[in-house]
Amino acid sequence: MCSTCGRDVEPENEVHSADMSRLCVRLDGTRPWRYEHTLGGALITFDGKRYLSAIDQNEPWRLRAYFLCELPESVDSIARAYDCLKPSRVREAEAQGLEVRRSGGREIFFLSGPQRKT
Ligand SMILES: [Zn+2]
Repeated sequence: MCSTCGRDVEPENEVHSADMSRLCVRLDGTRPWRYEHTLGGALITFDGKRYLSAIDQNEPWRLRAYFLCELPESVDSIARAYDCLKPSRVREAEAQGLEVRRSGGREIFFLSGPQRKT
């Protein structure tokens, strides 16, 4: 995480992950990024139901929140668990290669569609 702005960092390239911009300047000469330990995702099975316990990784660092939710289907990985939480229309659009954007943690998705003629 960037020590100044708190955004995620790609340490090998020393850039902000979201837009690949250079890290904020540290006037005190200290390293501009630091590692932060976070809770890893976990799949939980209880009473015949499956759950995902995780941190929302789509949010900026300081806004990430823990969540525990029941999964609508059986999955074998954390990545698939996140994927199965998307609406089916979003998964279909991604499979078709359409542009899909998510609005933060608000569970609002924007799908590209036909262009209107003006
Ligand atoms: Zn920064």
